[in-house]
Amino acid sequence: MARAVRLVYYSKATRDMSLSDLRDILQTARDNNGDVDVCGMLCYDNRYFLQALEGERAVVNELYLDIADDARHDEIIIISYAEVEKPTFEQWKMGYSAGSDAFYTLLKENGQSEFDPAAMSAKQAVEFLTAMAAFQTEV
Ligand code: FAD
Repeated sequence: MARAVRLVYYSKATRDMSLSDLRDILQTARDNNGDVDVCGMLCYDNRYFLQALEGERAVVNELYLDIADDARHDEIIIISYAEVEKPTFEQWKMGYSAGSDAFYTLLKENGQSEFDPAAMSAKQAVEFLTAMAAFQTEV
């Protein structure tokens, strides 16, 4: 049986993302991920993306390379890559959470006054994404 992994990265948007930019990204992600059995979670704020991708490892690796090539962001850094028994985000082809009260409350609990995934440990980043999955934002 193919092994499943969770890859987590953060990156910097190359410009401020509008609602319509985020809608485009999520639409593509949800359409494509459904076809290849990938699920995950994306957070965006303060020009940072933080994303978890879960699925069969060859598929996740290939998808990550495509995403890393996308001109809408750069300075992309993988912060965690691990085998998983069971996906955490299986409910979402790509969940999304940003800018809510819950988002800023959780940031504060992580000692951050603004979203800065570069300063999060791998564990904090996975826990942040997992907690925010319960507070999805519609775009
Ligand atoms: P198209 O959407 O036609 O894209 C072709 C190429 O053009 C892509 O390589 C992309 O780099 C580039 N591109 C597309 N739209 C724009 C734009 N508006 N501005 C600049 N360049 C553009 N895709 C997924 O399948 N799953 C994901 O989970 C996922 N997450 C993403 C997270 C982030 C933060 C970003 C920025 C992108 C994400 N994408 C995701 C999109 C991904 O980078 C590719 O655009 C997508 O995989 C290619 O889709 P496509 O084959 O339909 O080609």
